[in-house]
Amino acid sequence: MKRLLAATIFAVVSGTAYAESYLFENVRIFNGVDDRLTAGHVLVDNGIISKISSEQIDTADDVVVIDGGNRVLSPGFIDLHVHLTMHVPADQPGDHGTLIGAYSVAAAKFFLDSGFTTIRDAGGTHPDLARAINSGSLYGPRVFPSGAIVSQTAGHGDWRNRSDPHPSHIGAGPYMAGDNSILADGVEKTLIAVRENLKNGATQIKIMGGGGVMSDFDPIHTLQPSPAEIQAAVQAAGDWGTYVLAHAYTSEAIQRLVENGVKCIEHGLLIDDATARLVAKNNVVISTQITIFKALGSMAGLSDNNREKAELVAAGQENLIGLINKYDILTGFSTDFIYGQYHMLPQEFTNRAEYWSPAEVLNQATAQSAKIIRMAGKLNRYGNFGEIREGWVADLLLINGEPLQDLSIFADPGSALALIMKDGEIVKTTL
Ligand SMILES: [Zn+2]
Repeated sequence: MKRLLAATIFAVVSGTAYAESYLFENVRIFNGVDDRLTAGHVLVDNGIISKISSEQIDTADDVVVIDGGNRVLSPGFIDLHVHLTMHVPADQPGDHGTLIGAYSVAAAKFFLDSGFTTIRDAGGTHPDLARAINSGSLYGPRVFPSGAIVSQTAGHGDWRNRSDPHPSHIGAGPYMAGDNSILADGVEKTLIAVRENLKNGATQIKIMGGGGVMSDFDPIHTLQPSPAEIQAAVQAAGDWGTYVLAHAYTSEAIQRLVENGVKCIEHGLLIDDATARLVAKNNVVISTQITIFKALGSMAGLSDNNREKAELVAAGQENLIGLINKYDILTGFSTDFIYGQYHMLPQEFTNRAEYWSPAEVLNQATAQSAKIIRMAGKLNRYGNFGEIREGWVADLLLINGEPLQDLSIFADPGSALALIMKDGEIVKTTL
């Protein structure tokens, strides 16, 4: 007997059972790639999209039928640059691990409830948190963790005060500077840091590749690791079949990173034309964030030094996006919120719509980001996700409204998302 959705939802909420097969009937499909909607029906079996058809789909008896009501069905959203462990508010007293963990879980819940079924953590979050979510113990999106960010001494990941002693590399834990980074100078220590992350379960490696805004002692113009250190990180990651993403703003930093094998640049706001051409020629990704750089300069808790640096890099926004479009550079969708600012997540959709069509923004937030995350190669243990295609993972959103015309509907995810499915399981629905 085919079951109605309502009965199944009760089972999901009460934690007693979940169905193995779902049939979405009467939906308009945004497949993650094409800039149009296709009317049809989608069958999900054991977490996988098993059939897509414009005709009615005949199914086994135990399928749960979901009447899509002509709503839009999209792949789940993906954010390429998240830091789950950086959400203790700036004005909150205390920074004990208990607090960091609690705010991490709150952030994870927020992202999944906003339709983000996958995130790439750009450093800080221990891979054990990804495992806890996979086990079903914690609620949240699929996480591709980078582990501890690898930073040189006096780099953007060196968050110590001047009076703090330098941590000894051997014999201490992997998280040694502001809980999110590991300090590694020289080829040998870089290799240890990268391999330690891989051992812990990192799916890609994050390095600090140049000066940053929120650290106090490294000006934006600084070049961080040496070519030999970058090569060491790239080689150790490559030996595991994965890649390195690097924080960087300036052309000089980006050139050094690209020439030494880094495959994904984070931010890149001060890039010039010749460097963008180099990036495109090497098929390197520039992962962009718009909202955080609009907001950073006026955020509470910044020192004058931090604020000056924020304004310096934010001025490059228009130029960067122009070059990404000019050279057709893969960019995806990412946010980089910290201090609990992820409530601005819906604005990332509308801010992007000032430069790209809604379909292009949704492509960034689904298929394009998934393609970038899948650069983790064999360390991606989840198969293909990010598009609505037969044989691909069933991360699906049933959307109220017309997202290909108006991305402001995501300002209220609770009313925009009629249903969120991750890995073939309904995690939330208002149907
Ligand atoms: Zn970041």
